[in-house]
Amino acid sequence: MDIEIADGSGFCFGVRRAVNLALRAAEDHGRRTVTLGPLVHNPLVVERLEAKGIRAVEEVAGDADVVVLRAHGTPAPQEESLRRRRLEIVDATCPFVKRAQRHARALREEGYQVVILGDRAHPEVASVRSYAGDDAVVVESADDLPVALGPRVGVMAQTTQPEEAFLRLVRRLAPGAAEVRVVNTVCRSTAARRAETEKLASRVQVMIVLGGRRSHNTRELARVSRLAGVDTHHIERARELQRQWFRNVGHVGVAAGASTPDEAIEDVVRRIRSFEEPFVSDGPAFSRPGGSGTPSPPLA
Ligand code: SF4
Repeated sequence: MDIEIADGSGFCFGVRRAVNLALRAAEDHGRRTVTLGPLVHNPLVVERLEAKGIRAVEEVAGDADVVVLRAHGTPAPQEESLRRRRLEIVDATCPFVKRAQRHARALREEGYQVVILGDRAHPEVASVRSYAGDDAVVVESADDLPVALGPRVGVMAQTTQPEEAFLRLVRRLAPGAAEVRVVNTVCRSTAARRAETEKLASRVQVMIVLGGRRSHNTRELARVSRLAGVDTHHIERARELQRQWFRNVGHVGVAAGASTPDEAIEDVVRRIRSFEEPFVSDGPAFSRPGGSGTPSPPLA
């Protein structure tokens, strides 16, 4: 059975940076290091950080000295209140999310009503919205736009949104407003990962999409893979794989979300191989087109 990994799978720049910052904070400051919410949307990463003494908490209590702000960003009032306390703050917000926050604030200050395309329940959207002013609107698609908006609209997107959905929203807004200011805040790495997944899905018989179920970018990979018409399974860890998915299958694709560690991808490949009977292999366990992707920071 051929197993092919989508190019660019595994940690993106923002996740790698956040994990490294959290690990360094724990090393420098000891075990009273917490992350406000899960650092990234991958339970394996969260568990492994916990094993290093870095706990994910929803509220910062008195038993923490260092607070790491999650890669998805933190709502402005929550961050301000933490900064007023005697706590060491390590800001692991992805620089692309920071950029979106800055744009949201600038649009508000320049008098635009901000429209954000994104998942209302996602922490990144909550963090960006907190900079965008009280009249900001979050929409999950162009069809979701309210009937009335101000005459000057600033439009932006959650970093993991598909670019086509963003363009659809912009086209829908343009005829109704006196002025539309467009800031493209979609992350390039997400768009590239989605394109690679789509390409791979078009040439395999089964796709395994690996990553957190709460991870928006991983759910998007599963969506584009299904749209390509291939049998697609979204899993969080190797033990969820089922032998019957691979019966009479000669070519399997694996795509992983931006917060999936390389070890988790390797576990998936090993487990798929273990379903082969008889198991004979003297070559590499899998191939990575283009050979790109650098190893994720050691967590174990
Ligand atoms: S997907 Fe993009 S925006 Fe999100 S953490 Fe990674 S680099 Fe940052």
